[in-house]
Amino acid sequence: MGGGASSNKVGKDSSIDLGQNIVHGNSNGMKNNGNQQKNKKLVPKSLIPSPFKKHLKPKTLMKAAILNEPKAPFLIKNIEILPLREREVLVKMKAAGICQRDWEVANGSKSCTFPVLCGHEGSGMVEAVGEGVIDFRPGDMVTLSCVSSCHRCFYCVRGRPRLCHSNVEADPTSPETYQVTPIRYRTEEELPVSQFLGIGCFAEKVVVPAANCVLMPEHLPPMIAALMGCAIPTGIGSVLNTAKVEAGSSVAVFGCGVLGMATIIGAKLAGASCIIAVEKTQASAERANEFGATQALVWREEDRHQTLKSIRDATEGRGADYAFETIGSPTMQELALEAIRPGGMLVLTGTAATETVTSLPTGLLARQQKTVVGSCDGFCIPSKDFPFYAELCTKKQIDLLKLVTKTYTLEDLNEAFNDLMEGRLTHGIVMLNVPTNT
Ligand SMILES: [Zn+2]
Ligand SMILES: [Zn+2]
Repeated sequence: MGGGASSNKVGKDSSIDLGQNIVHGNSNGMKNNGNQQKNKKLVPKSLIPSPFKKHLKPKTLMKAAILNEPKAPFLIKNIEILPLREREVLVKMKAAGICQRDWEVANGSKSCTFPVLCGHEGSGMVEAVGEGVIDFRPGDMVTLSCVSSCHRCFYCVRGRPRLCHSNVEADPTSPETYQVTPIRYRTEEELPVSQFLGIGCFAEKVVVPAANCVLMPEHLPPMIAALMGCAIPTGIGSVLNTAKVEAGSSVAVFGCGVLGMATIIGAKLAGASCIIAVEKTQASAERANEFGATQALVWREEDRHQTLKSIRDATEGRGADYAFETIGSPTMQELALEAIRPGGMLVLTGTAATETVTSLPTGLLARQQKTVVGSCDGFCIPSKDFPFYAELCTKKQIDLLKLVTKTYTLEDLNEAFNDLMEGRLTHGIVMLNVPTNT
């Protein structure tokens, strides 16, 4: 993995103390640095579910890519799947996307409960359902969504399920995780395995609540169904749901990774007449035209004024109606704010470390009536939005397959993240339980 992280195995003195906290130890002499220690959390004993304490049936094992600690590589391990609970679904995975949000756990910029199973953008076939599941049955094709909903809380009834407590509590990067989230897997060393964003799909199989599954048409290629889980709703949703871009608008998209490209696709769907892509690399800027950009600019920090001039020249001197910053770079965010016209809107969708701070000219913001809004997962309502995107694919109104630069096997996961961080991918997909070239 990028950064030349060394391999680390959990040693025999890794201990589970059911009377105290679980301590993730190691006996191989590897020392954690301060950041690694800071980013590892402990699991209170009261939060370990009963199936973890008592095991009666033969073990169900599967292959999974596990992170034992930050700044260490993904390790392929056999882990045990614990018995299915009420309202849970067992999914045999088909495809899982390589996303920067997983990398933030791997590189230690997000604190997390380890060991963790990453991967939050995936698709597969339902293999079994727990008691009380009425919406799915074995054989159904589903997309896994890291946006769940309780349908009752303050946020869910206002159409903002991303903010629902069920999502906060299911995320091992959240401090509240183990207050309610059951453990669904354990390692050979009997350590509980957490699921990033409540999913964890870099594995042969996944157990998730039925509320995290969305039914997909059978004919939809698994790669496309996987993209519905993160990149597509985050990009298209930021345009259609968050900004509500009007037909004829001018849109500037900063960053042309998969999120930027999905944003451009969304801007085209919304009927934007001017779509300006701003990217650091020539190749990505040019690719943006394939997805609907009407103009592509290659940006370098020293060309800041030239970039702004080009955007104003393309918008009758005003600046763009909307800008989308998809990288999570403070420098890019500040540039994007300057690039919008008075009364315009800047949407921040790029993931950045939680502590990241951007300097915004608040006096100018007020006088020019600019709006800055954060958007995570495109304000999506999965049960409504994912089938809509699938229908657009079926009718060939959008082509999502061309977003995928390369496919990988689970064993290639470290190489895949290396490719992502080296800028070699628009998007990468891990294929599971199927040949890699399909
Ligand atoms: Zn993602
Ligand atoms: Zn809710």
